[in-house]
Amino acid sequence: MSYLDWPFFEPRHRELVANLESWAASHVAVDDDADTDGTCRTFVRALGQDGWLKHAFGDIDTRAVCLIRETLARHSGLADFAFAMQGLGSGAITLFGTEAQKGRYADRAGRGEAIAAFALSEPACGSDAAALACDARAAGDAYVLNGEKTWISNGGIADFYVVFARTGEAPGAKGITAFVVEPGTPGFSCDERIEVIAPHPLARLTFRDCRVAATQRIGDPGQGFKIAMATLDVFRTSVAAAALGFARRALAEAIRYATSRQMFGKTLADFQLTQAKLAMMATDIDAAALLTYRAAWQRDRGQPVTIEAAMAKMVATESAQRIIDDAVQILGALGVVHNNPVERLYREIRPLRIYEGATEVQQLIIARGILKGG
Ligand SMILES: Cc1cc2nc3c(=O)[nH]c(=O)nc-3n(C[C@H](O)[C@H](O)[C@H](O)COP(=O)(O)OP(=O)(O)OC[C@H]3O[C@@H](n4cnc5c(N)ncnc54)[C@H](O)[C@@H]3O)c2cc1C
Repeated sequence: MSYLDWPFFEPRHRELVANLESWAASHVAVDDDADTDGTCRTFVRALGQDGWLKHAFGDIDTRAVCLIRETLARHSGLADFAFAMQGLGSGAITLFGTEAQKGRYADRAGRGEAIAAFALSEPACGSDAAALACDARAAGDAYVLNGEKTWISNGGIADFYVVFARTGEAPGAKGITAFVVEPGTPGFSCDERIEVIAPHPLARLTFRDCRVAATQRIGDPGQGFKIAMATLDVFRTSVAAAALGFARRALAEAIRYATSRQMFGKTLADFQLTQAKLAMMATDIDAAALLTYRAAWQRDRGQPVTIEAAMAKMVATESAQRIIDDAVQILGALGVVHNNPVERLYREIRPLRIYEGATEVQQLIIARGILKGG
């Protein structure tokens, strides 16, 4: 029985995966580290043109978004990244923007004609996002932004950035407002491109007396933190799905190698030590998939998923790391050769345990929920 036959899914989900699988086979090649920006631009355009991005916009079918991320991640980390960032980068506008903002930014992002970014983190605050310091002062019919953002995905290639800054209506989370800023706005610069373990467009942004028209504000003053959390909430379960895609690819590569590698007169898969590894990998994948699609299904039924999404994200990302490590071990020296699929997965998975709420943050969310009786 395929996991797609689980009761979480409907026929349209199975059809979606079959169609995306054949799309990916012809559109997704091995990721090219030599031109990460170009690869991401190509993926955004192709995913938009062929209608995949629209699933990350509007009234979201969480199971569909998760299945798309899982499938893309199985083929390419950058394809999954391109898909996810269009949704995350536009989510604040889709959920809280004006019609004009939707037309100028979110609709174009959904068609793959504009690249989106979500700028919340700063050098001095990541997990504690409500402590952000980037300042936005009201000045007539505009706001003047001063400060820094860092670790911003699509930084340097984005056509618009959703930026969260402190407007000071109240201390902490209640004094933050969201804005949409275009590159080329005087005072806004992408000062540093950051190289990470698995190449993705990532940058540090600086705002120096950057004047942003009040029409670029998203939602009401002081609503920014709520907007950021609502956006992250839509996509948190899908991070688990991406990890699941990486883990499934690692298991497939491990099985392929173990069943063909000859040693000591047998194949590697004939040894019980290998079988034990494969059994644990397969079981961890099913456990992560059950948590992921339970959270997605529950969200699609309109129920809160704070605890369920945190459990899914934590278990899927942590177990994918172990599964991929086991796949590297099964492939021996080949597993550490640059750009072998499992070596690439080994690098791709690591940031997922940190961003959109590190594992420790998910543990706190789960504990808070169960202690409240949730
Ligand atoms: C590849 C990548 C892409 C990213 N893309 C974006 C993006 O597009 N937009 C954006 O705004 N940000 C982005 N980020 C930033 C990301 O959201 C932050 O890295 C994350 O929130 C953690 O913040 P930090 O790195 O400042 O770590 P810190 O907040 O300093 O935390 C360090 C570590 O402390 C631990 N920790 C946290 N809280 C607790 C606690 N209460 N108790 C015990 N331990 C704790 C966790 O292990 C955590 O990893 C990205 C990061 C990466 C790696």
